[in-house]
Amino acid sequence: MVNNFLINPRSIVVVGGSNEITKPGGKVLKNLIDGHFAGHLYVTNLKEPEVQGIKSFQDINEMPQVDLAIIAIAAKLIPETVEILARKKETKAFIILSAGFSEESKEGAELEKQIVDTINSTGGCLIGPNCTGILTPSHHSIFTYPIPKLEPQGCDFISGSGATACFIMEAGIPNGLTFANVFSVGNSAQLGVEELLEYLDNSFDPATSSRVKLLYIENISKPQKLLKHASSLIRKGCRIAAIKAGSSDAGSRAASSHTGALASSDVAVDALFRKAGIVRCIGREDLISVASVFMHPELKGKRLAIITHAGGPAVMCTDALSNGGLDVPHIDSPASKELLTKLFPGSSVANPIDFLATGTAEQLGTIIDYVDQRFDDIDAMIVIFGTPGLFKLFDVYTVLDAKMKTALKPIFPVLPSTLTAGEEVNDFLSKDRINFPDEVVLAKALVKVFYTAKPFEEVPTLPQVDTVKIRSIIDGTAEGYISPAEIQSLLDAAGIPRTGEAVVTDKETAKAEAQRLGFPVVMKVVGPVHKSDVGGVVLNVKNIETVEREFERMIQIKETTAILIQPMLSGTELFVGANFEAKFGHMILFGLGGIFIEVLKDVSAGLSPIGKAEAMTMIKSLKSYKIIEGVRGQKGIDQNILADIIMRLSALLQVAPEIRELDLNPLLGNADKVVAVDARIRIEK
Ligand code: ADP
Ligand code: MG
Repeated sequence: MVNNFLINPRSIVVVGGSNEITKPGGKVLKNLIDGHFAGHLYVTNLKEPEVQGIKSFQDINEMPQVDLAIIAIAAKLIPETVEILARKKETKAFIILSAGFSEESKEGAELEKQIVDTINSTGGCLIGPNCTGILTPSHHSIFTYPIPKLEPQGCDFISGSGATACFIMEAGIPNGLTFANVFSVGNSAQLGVEELLEYLDNSFDPATSSRVKLLYIENISKPQKLLKHASSLIRKGCRIAAIKAGSSDAGSRAASSHTGALASSDVAVDALFRKAGIVRCIGREDLISVASVFMHPELKGKRLAIITHAGGPAVMCTDALSNGGLDVPHIDSPASKELLTKLFPGSSVANPIDFLATGTAEQLGTIIDYVDQRFDDIDAMIVIFGTPGLFKLFDVYTVLDAKMKTALKPIFPVLPSTLTAGEEVNDFLSKDRINFPDEVVLAKALVKVFYTAKPFEEVPTLPQVDTVKIRSIIDGTAEGYISPAEIQSLLDAAGIPRTGEAVVTDKETAKAEAQRLGFPVVMKVVGPVHKSDVGGVVLNVKNIETVEREFERMIQIKETTAILIQPMLSGTELFVGANFEAKFGHMILFGLGGIFIEVLKDVSAGLSPIGKAEAMTMIKSLKSYKIIEGVRGQKGIDQNILADIIMRLSALLQVAPEIRELDLNPLLGNADKVVAVDARIRIEK
């Protein structure tokens, strides 16, 4: 667990501190000194009596007690050093910068384990090894540049990769993004991203803590912990954006060689982030722009006004917002007509509001006031204002800053001339402002943030299922794929609608059952896992003769033990499945059947348990959602029934965690009912 000695130490020692600031041990000391660490600062160095003006101990045993040790010496020497510090010097927090541990070799992993054991046994905490360090308002224990402006209300940033942390800060700082705490966790031998998020959650103070958390993750080793603390922080009013790298197969290989750990399945990550309310980002620019949106007041509605003196960017911005599902509504009201009279002839207030290349700072102020106070059908503004270099923009940006302080609606500034108007932009940023240099990047970030749902309930209410019956079926069956009769009973016990059916082993019963179910019927083999592939599904069987003929043929198919007969149904094919992902738990997948799932991979996933709100979001997030809603006069599918099936499946999985794989493929659905016609269930005990 993170302790206060790590965050607010009274004393720090740099073990292996050096005069050479091109080495980690030299640079971290320099950063600590430049960052004006207020406590006692010590150095150990085998050769030098003094390092960067600080007395150095040649023998660590001679040092006084110290709260935090930053270690930058060879890996093989570290276990003993940590022993001395932990046992004799009361050191309770460690940052190990050195590499050469589990990321490198088996011997390295052994050293790492020894260190963790020592630190655990004395109740200390450890960041690293193989990390770049941490930045807090009290100490700059990091050996890399850049060092951002640290402010309590800046972003808290936890990174699984030190270099990536640098590059992300490098990209954010020029836009005015500030940081509060930065943690690079390296190998996460003891504290990883999940533990630091836990710390941010447990120590969250609504009056002083930052509300923006950024994560760069290569390996989610404790998904449930991540879910718990991310959603808890978001419920407390925070906003979280995260990159989970290693989502493609090739990406996963790169990540595993990097951190010595395997990447988790990507669909499960999507499901986890959606459940927690985390905005998922794919790259540095994406993360920086979402973080910058987070640093502004929340967008409460989706209608934006674009205010500009340049047509092109406004058009691109409008396109990006509209394509993403946000609105740039046409403005035409008495108030807008009045506004038009205050602008130069040729201006437009129809939205985008274009007040021409000659537009003045004063006009900008007037426009913002009108949009803020008198345009009721606008929720927020984007102001795009640069310069081709003919005049200075100080007055414009001063007005913009002043209006951002007082306006009730969020204002997002796009200042594109970061070179030509560099001075003015920097002046704007010095007032604790953030710039979005590119309007389309801003628009995409706004879309992403707006359409990321808040965390779903921790313990959703699920429909009642027959727990006793489910347990007796599961306990009474062997591992592997279970029989059609057991599947029927399980679906019935869970209240998941299925078609009536009969399983027969002789021709006479087949004929009788077909008659009883009513023609046309469907005949399927029992035994083979993929029935159609072996010619084991016959649709639309209309009479007794066909039943006889097909029975004789199908019963000969390899591995066939019986024939299943069902009524022939119609409807849109749907897919609902469940899968057990190690550490994540059960994941439920949903989509339209057939080509939608196979070719277009149009599937949405959720982590069980899934309540009504999350089930509805899963349904709505499909690309093919319009088909479920009903298109071109065709009736859609009852979405409440779909959500109910997802929730019932979730309830079934809670009672029967032994279910490792479950496929309802397809269910046939229409406006009145949704019925499973094929189901496969595999259990593991
Ligand atoms: P498998 O997936 O093992 O090949 P299915 O039972 O899913 O076998 O049948 C294959 C396809 O036949 C289904 O995807 C569906 O299109 C159709 N089908 C199956 N059962 C019925 C039924 N009772 N009514 C209408 N169509 C059906
Ligand atoms: Mg099937």
